[in-house]
Amino acid sequence: QQERYVSLRDQPAESDDGVRVRLTMNAGLMADLPSLESSGAEGVGLFRTELQFLTQSRVPRRGELAQLYSRVLDRAGDKQVVFRTLDIGSDKVLPYMKPQDEPNPALGWRAIRLGLDKPGVMRMQAQAMIRAATGRKLTVMFPFIAQLQEFRDARELFLREVERERRMGHILPTEIKIGAMLETPSLAFSPAQFYDEADFISIGGNDLKQFFFAADRENERVRRRYDTLNVSFLNMIEMIIRRCAEAGTPLSFCGEDAGRPIEAVTFAALGLRSLSMRPASIGPVKHLIRRTNLAQLRKVIDTARGSGAQSVRPAVIEYLYKPHP
Ligand code: PEP
Ligand code: MG
Repeated sequence: QQERYVSLRDQPAESDDGVRVRLTMNAGLMADLPSLESSGAEGVGLFRTELQFLTQSRVPRRGELAQLYSRVLDRAGDKQVVFRTLDIGSDKVLPYMKPQDEPNPALGWRAIRLGLDKPGVMRMQAQAMIRAATGRKLTVMFPFIAQLQEFRDARELFLREVERERRMGHILPTEIKIGAMLETPSLAFSPAQFYDEADFISIGGNDLKQFFFAADRENERVRRRYDTLNVSFLNMIEMIIRRCAEAGTPLSFCGEDAGRPIEAVTFAALGLRSLSMRPASIGPVKHLIRRTNLAQLRKVIDTARGSGAQSVRPAVIEYLYKPHP
């Protein structure tokens, strides 16, 4: 198995009917970066920046962060790195933060909500990213955006720091792309302006799914209760794909499901062209994409949806693994 995946490393993730899918990896530490070469990932589709904040007894300093982000960009070379701004609160509690005592932390004061209400840390992090990317491209996205105005406010906050760096005479990044994670159902249904104004969108399927089904991703009793290939969920994914296409906005998917081969080919058949996953998943996902005819799989999915099936999984599995004559 492993050897087969190694031999695929430098092959494109191109389906049997010629559709190219971009496969990138998720990371959060400098130590993850060597996987860029060993896995054949085309970039880092999600760099989670929480770890540096969770593993210390104080807020990391701007210089430390700038140095780390700069080394990450150095190591990635020509490959794109998408930095996600701090996503804390909920299950990720900072040791030096006052406990919030919230009845439902996953629905509480977390991620961008915290970043907008207490912008000091987010501003510092923005400065670190801008400095790390002087003279090269910078790509950032905000976690847990629930409505257009939050995206506008976060982007404005970030761009104010760019302006500040410019006034201070620092060399700026050559290009700055600012996107949003789509991980609340409300954002999927937002005004079209959201899809137009985001430079790119990345579906955070772990959170999107827990909020869509109202099923806690941390709760063993319910976390596997609803299938990702549930027709209702796929209908929403398909709508997001369509709305991004209408706006001409690049879309990717960076939740754990992107790294599951059956889920990944199903998303690709629905029109997703970029998936970000843990490095070890790239080989298995690429292998299945390469042997799948996405147009045919799409017909199978549509037939299953039309039949009133709750999940398209049985039909997809039957199609993928039935003996081919
Ligand atoms: C997600 O929610 O799918 C995601 C990628 O972010 P995290 O798992 O860090 O919440
Ligand atoms: Mg998330």
